[in-house]
Amino acid sequence: MATWEPCSVRVDCPFCGEGKRTETHWHRIADFIACICLKERSDRYERACEESHKVGLCSFIQFYRAVKNPDLKTDVNIWNSHQAVARHALSLHAKRLIILEDDFQFRRTTLPLTQIEQDVSNLDAYYPSWDIYYLGHFPLLSIPAFPPIRRVWSQCAHALVMNDCMIQRLSSLAPKYIQTFSSVFGNGIDCYFMLQSKTFAPDKILCVQHESPNDHRKASWIDYAITHGWCYDFANSLSRFIPFLFVLVVFLLLNKKHNKESRNTRKQQQICPSPR
Ligand SMILES: [Zn+2]
Repeated sequence: MATWEPCSVRVDCPFCGEGKRTETHWHRIADFIACICLKERSDRYERACEESHKVGLCSFIQFYRAVKNPDLKTDVNIWNSHQAVARHALSLHAKRLIILEDDFQFRRTTLPLTQIEQDVSNLDAYYPSWDIYYLGHFPLLSIPAFPPIRRVWSQCAHALVMNDCMIQRLSSLAPKYIQTFSSVFGNGIDCYFMLQSKTFAPDKILCVQHESPNDHRKASWIDYAITHGWCYDFANSLSRFIPFLFVLVVFLLLNKKHNKESRNTRKQQQICPSPR
């Protein structure tokens, strides 16, 4: 049975060590912070705890120690863990939830937490029903929303902030919907997040995935991409050009069509010159 577990305490940690608790902005960004980690993967739990100590998450984070259901597909097990976390946050009346997966790795120990807090407040003001604010993601497409926030369509769900409407939506999904979605789209929960209408991210990717053995699929080029920081940055840059590329292709096609019509008109005029 799945259980909740706090972060291990480290005596020399500036955030949770004895008598050393330091305030951070994490609790202003979200009411509840959870990390999903399989019960059988104590190596991942320990690494995620280390990571939490580095960035001051250790005092707030709770680990959802999930248990795999061998009768279900891995994608569905992942859905169920995310849904269990969302339901737990809902039961605590959380307005914002941070969900991390146990391979999360922040790119710096000093994070722009004040900026993140400001970003989610701005989202509340300008997009009151926003769904997701990604701390870490693999962007496929992005357009400016308001600086430094971009509207994104992204893969990966290893680090994100969820707003209350998204918490409720995920909590209320039926198991049948989850299984159907997962069997159609394959990649499961991150595809579902990508298809939500209001998903945002800061200009820079703050969190990537650690290079630890994967729980749910064979090693492939995707693993290479998601465990190398430059791939995220490359995707982040490329995602900005795709909308321009789309506009350029449409412009070139329309221009080609216009030129063809002009040539046909000229040919027509040469065959049948207009009477003087
Ligand atoms: Zn600590």
